[in-house]
Amino acid sequence: MRKTLLALAALLTSSSAFADTIIYNVNGIQVGPDGRLQRFGGIVIDDQGKVEELIQRSEDLKRPIEHEIDGGGRTLLPGLIDAHGHVVALGFAALQLDLTGTKSLSDLQQRLKAYAAANPNARWILGRGWNQELWAEKSFPTAADLDAVVSDRPVWLGRVDGHAAIANSAAMQAAGFALNTQAPAGGRIENGLFVDAAMSLVETKIPAPTAAELDAALAKAQELMMSNGLTAAADMGTSPEEWEAMNRAGQAGKLNTRILSYAGGMAGMRGINGGKPSEWLYADRLHLGGVKIYADGALGSRGAYLKLPYHDKPDTRGLQFLTDAQMLEQANAAASAGYQPAIHAIGDAANAQVISTYEKLARQHPGDRRWRIEHFQIVDPADIPRLKPAGIIASMQPTHQTSDRLMAEARLGQDRLKGAYAWQTIEKLDIPMAFGSDFPVESPNPFPGLAAAISRQDPNGQPPGGWIPEERVSFEQALAGFTRGAAYAGFAESKFGSLDVGKWADFILVDRDVSAVDPQALGQTQVLETWVAGKKVWAKKSGASAERGR
Ligand SMILES: [Zn+2]
Repeated sequence: MRKTLLALAALLTSSSAFADTIIYNVNGIQVGPDGRLQRFGGIVIDDQGKVEELIQRSEDLKRPIEHEIDGGGRTLLPGLIDAHGHVVALGFAALQLDLTGTKSLSDLQQRLKAYAAANPNARWILGRGWNQELWAEKSFPTAADLDAVVSDRPVWLGRVDGHAAIANSAAMQAAGFALNTQAPAGGRIENGLFVDAAMSLVETKIPAPTAAELDAALAKAQELMMSNGLTAAADMGTSPEEWEAMNRAGQAGKLNTRILSYAGGMAGMRGINGGKPSEWLYADRLHLGGVKIYADGALGSRGAYLKLPYHDKPDTRGLQFLTDAQMLEQANAAASAGYQPAIHAIGDAANAQVISTYEKLARQHPGDRRWRIEHFQIVDPADIPRLKPAGIIASMQPTHQTSDRLMAEARLGQDRLKGAYAWQTIEKLDIPMAFGSDFPVESPNPFPGLAAAISRQDPNGQPPGGWIPEERVSFEQALAGFTRGAAYAGFAESKFGSLDVGKWADFILVDRDVSAVDPQALGQTQVLETWVAGKKVWAKKSGASAERGR
């Protein structure tokens, strides 16, 4: 049959179809507009890099195609989209001292020592990813713990959730810290541990990255996205400098993935792109469409704003970042300037506050505004039904549930977990949901996220049967969250998020049939190739077996 097509192609010499490409012999899977799985055997890409046709069998194709690629029977999915990440931070995190998975304080100290020795010219030693909840001792590290290893230059190590960091004495000195230094409102300082608003005391003293460092971080982040099967991500809190780096990459043809940018706060909004949303730039690879606003902190550091006191620290309800009036004013200013507000809310009180704000805004700004709540983690079950009528999107991160479950149980107690990470409840109420990872808080790899979404189990299969298993979603729902749902949350569904005719041919080839494996195997899926706009932008190295297919 292929010979016939080629012969036919040779006869026809001047058709626009000649620039087309077909990848045939694939196990194509995507979620249709009805939420059900669609299957296809091949994809035809036009000369612009958009989807021209999905075919079931090569035999069905009745016209010549210039470039024919045998997919080798491999599974092909739409490019996955992370609805909430921090793109440049992902690159910096990969270039910094990685403390994820440290098993103890001494493990952290050893890694710090090795990194300091390997980076003698770093003016500051920056790292992140430690989580004392995973240590036997469970207590926070102190400045003295770091001084014991590095005392000649500042050290600043962020906790895994980004809501606390530990400084050594040199870093505290650089920050002008004295014994009588008071933590600012919304923050806390304890033995070198800086929580939430207090972190800025040190962070403002870290030398700003140069343009070259930003470019390197963005390139590194894109490489990580592509190798994990992400063809697009929402960047939650883009700084003006990051926006410039993204534009430099776009102008240089080095933007391989798509970035949906949300300016970082009101100051960020005014400082980017002349204080207005951007066009879709660089063939739909970059768009500034929203503003990220914070309602509260995170659960791990007890910064999430709760309706009732913390179960494991009854003297606090967490941190409320904005009064009702401030939140309404900020979100309204964003909406009035044509931006899409995306408000971070973790605790049930913060979520209720954001919902009330959006209910008011929905009346003031009728139409398709897609108000976003980022995380939507701990929610009073009574508040969840308020989302749909107000046109609110729940932007959630499945791997937060598996990482946080024990901590969430400690912080809230068993009785207050009913509306926690309540994906199936949200689905049943027909609330638009988008999935992401919050990278670099979690790995950018979306496959463990898909696995967590359908199983409520971590990569080790814990807990057996899943955590609050009635909140599991189906594979179709999970895949939609990382494709169509994430695109919809960024007003991008007419451009990408599914391989429908006329949309960008953004897709990935993976090493297994993700629709037919158990959650553990799904979480271990390997990406073999990543294509954006009909071009292969990344391929797994040493892929002899990958290239041969099955
Ligand atoms: Zn985030």
